[in-house]
Amino acid sequence: MTTDFAATRAMFELPEGIVYLDGNSLGPLPRAVPERLRRTVEEEWGRLLIGGWNRAGWMDLPRKVGDRVGRLIGAEPGTVVMGDTLSIKVYQSLAAALEMVPGRRVILSDTGNFPSDLYMADGLVRTLGQGYAVRTVAPEEVEAAIGPEVAVLMLTEVDYRTGRRHDMGRLTAKAHAAGALTVWDLAHSAGALPVDLAGTRADFAVGCSYKYLNSGPGGPAFIYVAPRHAEAARPALSGWLGHAAPFAFDLDYRPGRGIERMRVGTPPILQLAALDAAMDVWEIADIADVRARSVELTQAFIAGVEAACPELALASPRDPEARGSQVSFRHPEGYAIMQALIARGVIGDFRAPDILRFGFAPLYTGMGEVERAVAVLAEVMAGRLWDRDDYRRRAAVT
Ligand SMILES: *Cc1c(COP(=O)(O)O)cnc(C)c1O
Repeated sequence: MTTDFAATRAMFELPEGIVYLDGNSLGPLPRAVPERLRRTVEEEWGRLLIGGWNRAGWMDLPRKVGDRVGRLIGAEPGTVVMGDTLSIKVYQSLAAALEMVPGRRVILSDTGNFPSDLYMADGLVRTLGQGYAVRTVAPEEVEAAIGPEVAVLMLTEVDYRTGRRHDMGRLTAKAHAAGALTVWDLAHSAGALPVDLAGTRADFAVGCSYKYLNSGPGGPAFIYVAPRHAEAARPALSGWLGHAAPFAFDLDYRPGRGIERMRVGTPPILQLAALDAAMDVWEIADIADVRARSVELTQAFIAGVEAACPELALASPRDPEARGSQVSFRHPEGYAIMQALIARGVIGDFRAPDILRFGFAPLYTGMGEVERAVAVLAEVMAGRLWDRDDYRRRAAVT
């Protein structure tokens, strides 16, 4: 390993005494972000006003930052653009992909997918009518369900609940052999493990930046379109900034060149500036090293918890190759247990109905945190410290 994890860790602001195992939901604050935001706000917005769009490079930021994210996920230069939220990018990629497979009507996904992806697919097929449908099968049954009626295979590589990981290369090849296109959601992959979009010949990919890429709450999503589809993919959300000439103000829509057409409206400049600063850590971190360290951390966490807490059932695959960078355990009182952990400074999260979820981000998490988390969890379980009414009261965000 060549990555200096002490150096990457020093690039993050983490409150004293906290073990943060929820970077898979919201990454922590990179130390470079406040200064970058101050500059963007005071020196660019404050001084340049509207001139910032040209003179501070705001208009190019979605592409420029998209290329930085693209390098991390094996995308060719100029194939990734930032903007909107992930749910919107799911809709956009799915609509474009469906149109490219005329004569087929089925979107195939799995029951482990994140609900918003399925809701967006559902909304799209309702708008399209004409027999379009979403079919979901169990994650293990996806491969066998790829048949001649499938237009698009839409999957999230790493399951948000269990951390189970699909084999992207294999499923993409299978989909292509069956005449279908693929939409991959990399929400729990980008910044967590190596992804090879070009090598696996993925067609479309999307993901968010506020999880393992640490862009902050509400940071923009990304969308990738394979270069071979770039001029054929037709944007369903045909906003003015995806137009070939936005400032011609034509009344008719003409898609922009390549990935530019996947832009919709005015980009969120403050959030893009935050993400741009957050991406600096990848100048000294190698994603292969991050993955290798993540495997060490997750294996140690599983071994520690299983030895100390027999009442927790592992919900994640035991084989590190078959999972992403998170570990989940099941317990009927999972919510209360997580509240007891959070009260003791170990922050993970809970996913209904019974999942305790722990994300591991080696950029700022080491073996010391794993040991501390195991020790606190063992104490909470052995002493039934979770067994309190106030720990059972659910907050709006779990
Ligand atoms: C986090 C996540 C989302 C969230 O979508 P937003 O539009 O950013 O709120 C969607 N899909 C998956 C797979 C996720 O993990």
